[in-house]
Amino acid sequence: MHSNTELPAVVMCDLDNTLYEYDPAHKAAMNAVRSKLNQTMSVKDDDFTRAFNAAKAEVKAMLGNTAGSHSRLLYFKRMIEALGLKTQPLLSLDLEQTYWRSFLSSAQLLPGVKEFFEELHCLNIPRVLVTDLTTQIQLRKLIYFELESSFDLVVTSEEVGVEKPDGRIFNYALSKVTRGRGPVWMIGDSIEKDMIGAKQAVNAHTFLRGGMLRRVNRQESVDTVFKDFWDLLPLIKGISSAVFESASNVADFNLTHSLSSNE
Ligand SMILES: [Mg+2]
Repeated sequence: MHSNTELPAVVMCDLDNTLYEYDPAHKAAMNAVRSKLNQTMSVKDDDFTRAFNAAKAEVKAMLGNTAGSHSRLLYFKRMIEALGLKTQPLLSLDLEQTYWRSFLSSAQLLPGVKEFFEELHCLNIPRVLVTDLTTQIQLRKLIYFELESSFDLVVTSEEVGVEKPDGRIFNYALSKVTRGRGPVWMIGDSIEKDMIGAKQAVNAHTFLRGGMLRRVNRQESVDTVFKDFWDLLPLIKGISSAVFESASNVADFNLTHSLSSNE
């Protein structure tokens, strides 16, 4: 276990369900896709659900732990085919766009995200987004949330070729930043992918968003649990003022010491 007394040398952070709540956005997006398919192809809700689940399971089974395994375009293309239709190029692309447009318009950034990463910037601490999924949609999310300047580096599983918790994605992210002394922080919502992954790969100090406290307390991979980023802001401010205070005490001591020895 780590303690929260040292400023981090670098802060890595997950995107989905860490910077915003995933479930409501996904639900709204699926509703929009369902109603579009109902309007255009008269697909009933039960058939939609069955075909979508089958298509998603098939894509995941074929692609394993890769960024492409999350592709909504692949899910919808296969779903249409699972409904007994031929491949529908325009409709497949349209459903993908419908999904992400509805997703983004329903997704809400958690409180304190911008302020927290701005504070890290002021403290000269590199901020790295480490995220599964394809690069295009992850960059779109950052633009949508106006987080373009909140991260110094974005690393996606698509560009690394492996997904969290594979250690290569964390090691790759760290190899791309210049950092000073201090612990590596990893902030995320998944115990397996973010906490265990970063703990095993780079011995990170881990922060879990949300989660069930009792269960989490038994998880050795989780160092700190937090609710939203307003919880983390005072933490980082507290550490930085304690660090600077002790540094100025040392400086005062050295100054006094050198003055008295000069007397
Ligand atoms: Mg996540």
